[in-house]
Amino acid sequence: MDRDSSQDTDASEGAMPAAFSREWALFLDIDGTLVDFEARPDAVRINERLMELVRGLWAATNGAVALISGRTVKEIDRLFAPLRLPAAGQHGAERRAGDGKLHLHAPVIERMYDAADRLSCFAAQHRNLIVENKGMSLALHYRLAPHLRKLAEAIMHELAEYLGSEYCLQEGKHVLELKPSGRDKGTAIEEFMLEPPFAGRTPVFIGDDLTDEFGFACVNRLGGHSVKVGSGASVAAWRIADAAAVRHWLRSGMEQRHDQDMEDRA
Ligand SMILES: [Mg+2]
Repeated sequence: MDRDSSQDTDASEGAMPAAFSREWALFLDIDGTLVDFEARPDAVRINERLMELVRGLWAATNGAVALISGRTVKEIDRLFAPLRLPAAGQHGAERRAGDGKLHLHAPVIERMYDAADRLSCFAAQHRNLIVENKGMSLALHYRLAPHLRKLAEAIMHELAEYLGSEYCLQEGKHVLELKPSGRDKGTAIEEFMLEPPFAGRTPVFIGDDLTDEFGFACVNRLGGHSVKVGSGASVAAWRIADAAAVRHWLRSGMEQRHDQDMEDRA
C-alpha cells in the first residue's frame, strides 16, 4: 500500500498501518472495498473465503469490526449471514451498536413516500435504471445505463429540492441517493468509537467512494488510519488498488500478527 502524498492529511508520518494491530477498531465499507461491484447490487455475494477473513478479523480484534455501508443493516445481515456484526446502514442513518441495539437516526417524512413513488414512475420509463427504496434513503442506480446519468441527476436534484433540508443528495459510483441530512459514515464511526468494543482503540476505515470521505475525515481527526480503495481525490492518508488488494492486505496482516504472537509466546 502506498502513502498518499498528494492529499492533505493529519495522519502522522511513518505510522504504517500495514502492521496489523489487535488494538484496531476496524470499520469496513462493503461494495467496492471488500467485494467488487456487480451490475445489480442484489447480485453481490460474499464467498466463504471472505466470510472466513471477516470472522478472523472479528476474533483477532476481540469483536471490534463494524461494516459501514450504504446498504440497509437488513441487507448487510443477509449478505453476511449467519454473521451479525455491528453495522451502520444507509450511510449512517441506521446503526446497530456492539451491544446489538439498533439506532435509527431519522424519522421518515411523509414526502419521502411521494418521492419514492415519483422515482419509481420515472425509472419505469427508462430501461435499466434501478430504484432501491431502503426506507430511510432512496437510491437510483444507473450502472447499467451510464448514458442516463444526466437525466438521473436531474430527477434526483428535483426530488432533493422537494424533500427539503431534512434530506440531502449523496453521489456515488453509478448511484445517486437521497439520504437524511446530518448523518453520514463519519457520524456512525464517531458513535461506535464511544462504545465497547471500539472505544479506546485506533480506528481504521477502508472505503472506496465519495460517501466514505466522511469516514476518512473522522478517523483522521481521531488519529486513526484512513484507507482509500482505487483512484479519485480523497482525504484518506493511504491508498490501496482494489477489493482484492484489500482482502490480501487484511489477510496477510492478520496472519503476520498471529505468527508474531506465536513467536513472542515461544
Ligand atoms: Mg463502497
